[in-house]
Amino acid sequence: MKIREKFPILRNNPGLIYLDNGATTLKPISVIQAETSYLENISANPHAIDYKTGFAATEIITETRVKTAKLINAKNTNEVIFTSGTTHSINQIAFGLKNFIHEKDEILVTTMEHSANLLPWIIVANEKKAQIVKIPLNKDTGININKLVEVITPQTKIFSFVHASNTIGFENDVKKIVQKVRTINPNIIIVVDCAQTIAHTNVDVESWDVDFIAFSAHKMYGPFGLGVLWGKIALLNELLPIFYGGGMSKEISEDLINYKLASIPAKFEAGTPNISAIAAFLAALNFLEEIKIEKIRKHEHELKDYLRNKIKANKLDLKIDFYNLENHAPILNFNAKNVNPQDITHFLDFKYKIASRSGAHCARRTEEVYGEKTSVRISFGVYNTKEEIDVLIEALNNIDKFLD
Ligand code: PLP
Repeated sequence: MKIREKFPILRNNPGLIYLDNGATTLKPISVIQAETSYLENISANPHAIDYKTGFAATEIITETRVKTAKLINAKNTNEVIFTSGTTHSINQIAFGLKNFIHEKDEILVTTMEHSANLLPWIIVANEKKAQIVKIPLNKDTGININKLVEVITPQTKIFSFVHASNTIGFENDVKKIVQKVRTINPNIIIVVDCAQTIAHTNVDVESWDVDFIAFSAHKMYGPFGLGVLWGKIALLNELLPIFYGGGMSKEISEDLINYKLASIPAKFEAGTPNISAIAAFLAALNFLEEIKIEKIRKHEHELKDYLRNKIKANKLDLKIDFYNLENHAPILNFNAKNVNPQDITHFLDFKYKIASRSGAHCARRTEEVYGEKTSVRISFGVYNTKEEIDVLIEALNNIDKFLD
């Protein structure tokens, strides 16, 4: 079966050119069927380990945890926590570290972060009277490793940054950044937002030597409402949960004062998990394993090279400001002079059935990077083709006509 045939939505929407993979990827039939099959055939609460379907539910969770650990090269399966998405994972990390953050401590971020990796830190910092320190970037680079020494201080407690930006598309070299940070100040807790890379390139927590990572299943051909928080076991043991309830409670004293919590991963998974999504996520992990991340990366790099060459050959860069055109990440942002980005995305949709995205892309400080509050974003996935890029180029060539 060819890749595109695995995605019913492409068949059900003839002509659709889906270039909004940074927002969410489409779902293959195996993922859709796994979710419905769970509901049709098992449908038990995984906390119910008293009958066969309950056991089956628990087994799905265990298998999915093992497969997730394998994907990110985590040595300990219990370090994989299921959350509702990247946003939930980073909130859990930030608020879970509250007792560790004190007045005048510094939390380091960059100007290309998504709000999910800014707001939780801002709120915690405000509450604890800590400082947020931002690394300024220019539009052609990510984090400059040589300049880290200028922003890291003895007060730096946490450094939270994105693996690849959802706006400027730049992919940070996590391993080199972490090595450098550790030589400057070995006590810093390093958090990496992998939302935009988990389905596009290798994520390797062991060789990176980071402390926490976060990502969402729906951006990796998986279901909505599910995400992952991975952390080093010693830190997870210290981290405070943000949700409390069933599944993670071990003991509650008669006077209702004292309690004991379960150990990880249950400690961070209060309440009934999104089990049908976990079943679907297992199918997504199998899908990625079958195709292989390296192959997806190669395909997306080829698409980006093809797009870049076409843009230059058509001299589109003379009338459109492309941000970070040279990098390989499967994302490209742009603005046409004096045109509202949403007018462009509507034009692309109505005239060419191209699904793209306009706005600030929830990364509100990237305006410091390229000097505009909003932009148009296109982003690739495994099913995109050079023919689709040809249509995009034709559309961009015709932007002037639509402007008249
Ligand atoms: N971080 C980055 C870099 C993202 O691109 C996104 C989503 O676009 C998020 C975090 C938030 O992901 P979610 O909405 O799935 O929690």
